[in-house]
Amino acid sequence: MRALYKLDAAPGLIMTERPVPVPTEDEVLIRVLRTGICGTDLHIRRWDDWAASAVTAPLVPGHEFFGEVVEVGAAVRDVAVGDRVSGEGHIVCGTCRNCRAGRRQMCNRTKGLGVQRDGAFAEYLTLPGANVWVHHADVDPEVGALFDPLGNAVHTALAFPVVGEDVLVTGCGPIGLMAIAVARHAGARFVVGTDVSANRLAMASAMGADLGVDVGTDGDPIRVAQERLGMREGFDVGFEMSGAPRALPAMVDNMNHGGRVAMLGLPTGEIAVDWGKVVTHMLTVKGIYGREMFETWQTMSSMLQTSAVLRDRIASIVSGRFAAGDWEAAFAAAASADGGKVVIDWTEI
Ligand SMILES: [Zn+2]
Ligand SMILES: [Zn+2]
Repeated sequence: MRALYKLDAAPGLIMTERPVPVPTEDEVLIRVLRTGICGTDLHIRRWDDWAASAVTAPLVPGHEFFGEVVEVGAAVRDVAVGDRVSGEGHIVCGTCRNCRAGRRQMCNRTKGLGVQRDGAFAEYLTLPGANVWVHHADVDPEVGALFDPLGNAVHTALAFPVVGEDVLVTGCGPIGLMAIAVARHAGARFVVGTDVSANRLAMASAMGADLGVDVGTDGDPIRVAQERLGMREGFDVGFEMSGAPRALPAMVDNMNHGGRVAMLGLPTGEIAVDWGKVVTHMLTVKGIYGREMFETWQTMSSMLQTSAVLRDRIASIVSGRFAAGDWEAAFAAAASADGGKVVIDWTEI
């Protein structure tokens, strides 16, 4: 099969021929139709400090996929050949304290698909049957490939109640944009997105944001929101989606007393935060990683099934589709930080 391959512990990827993986009795074999390019994959290609510390090479990267089941191991239940599927890319141990308590997203021995085991930038992949998510038959392949990052967005957006609340979303990359759409769907009052890309701020309003603030030129979101939306106090709920060093300190400055911050953006270094303000303003900051297994999957699937508006908004996040043979152009588009999600099509190589 054709696969994008990280040959050794150094920068770069190559498109090469690999053997089709053989599923164990607990696994299924999936023919991959689409793979989304994630920030994680850009780190792996660049081979930065995070990749060097977390990734096992050689490796087929990729974890955001949609495909069709072509073979099912003898011990797998509730998944059948022909099912159209995505998958939870965190493969958990099943026996640690959190796994045994049903909090599998908090497993401390997780292995990542496309990070510590071969992933989805290939024509075929294997996955434990327990990690497979079977879609409704009519799901669009591109939307199916979005389920992993959409799950990040849903996990963040529903970490705290948003009904009637004013929500600040710092960072309008694909996951920030989807979180805006979900907060709107879930009943927030005002949703304000920030970024430094005019294109991404335009996408934020298409997602249902009331206001997009360019933090490079417009200044403090709270001041702009008070002027333009008539907000009188700070934000009630924040989603930090950028990982940028100045985003969390700015978020803390923009919250109302008692505000709650869900933080998905992964900083690359230490960040100085005014902890005095966190204390005196009684703020909550919660780290968000991955998706709850499998409540987040259930929730996002149901929301897409019942809301055409949300479905159309989420589908519009895909801003580039490339044949697998054009993977270098696809990675360049994904690295531009100026659009939505880029998806690779494995039916065209
Ligand atoms: Zn991802
Ligand atoms: Zn575990």
